[in-house]
Amino acid sequence: MVIIIIRGMIRNVEKEIAMSKVLIIEDEENLAKFVARELQHEGYEIEVHDNGRVGLNAALESSWDAVLLDLMLPELNGLEVTRRIRQVKNTPIIMMTARDDVMDRVSGLDHGADDYIVKPFAIEELLARLRALLRRIDIEKDKSVAKQTTLEYRDLTIEKENRLVRRKGEVVDLTKREYELLLMLMENINTVLERERLLEKVWNYEDPTETNVVDVYIRYLRNKIDIPGEESYIQTVRGLGYVMRS
Ligand code: CA
Repeated sequence: MVIIIIRGMIRNVEKEIAMSKVLIIEDEENLAKFVARELQHEGYEIEVHDNGRVGLNAALESSWDAVLLDLMLPELNGLEVTRRIRQVKNTPIIMMTARDDVMDRVSGLDHGADDYIVKPFAIEELLARLRALLRRIDIEKDKSVAKQTTLEYRDLTIEKENRLVRRKGEVVDLTKREYELLLMLMENINTVLERERLLEKVWNYEDPTETNVVDVYIRYLRNKIDIPGEESYIQTVRGLGYVMRS
């Protein structure tokens, strides 16, 4: 829960890596178990899925420091999983390919994977690549923090350059649309934004009959940013639209 906050403050690389969360999507049971065990032993927090579609959902639903992704998977292959993750997130991905096929590796990287490893691999090599990737990401994060524009609303913040939303310091995972909708609201505090205007700005829709899309996404957004039992940060203005009031 506190991983993200601590990661930003502690400079000791080993400590940071020790708390990283890694998602493993691999359908070869023995390999998945072996990698999972080794990673846990190194102090990583892990979750394993053996199916592309289920793994993709897990990748999108939570915040991960890295994803270890098999290429050939049931339901959704690794390339497709990568492509769909990349539509909304920059989570670092290491592709695990069974064949030492140049085309596989090239298309993996083309689809947005950050690195690849060819099976069978020595676990030390995987661990080294994972550490290198996490370090690289941390350096990039440090650079981007330096020129971060932060919008604040109570305990909710948006870091614009790295498109990161936090509530009470914890990262809230939003899809691209949800993010853009929230950004629009937070850039216009106390201004009622009509559904039509949101539709036009966030979705680029001209057709004002589609406004229920906005309501649906506001609901998704509330589910993610609000705390159950507390008043929503986003207020509905009947017949008009939505507003965040200070
Ligand atoms: Ca496989």
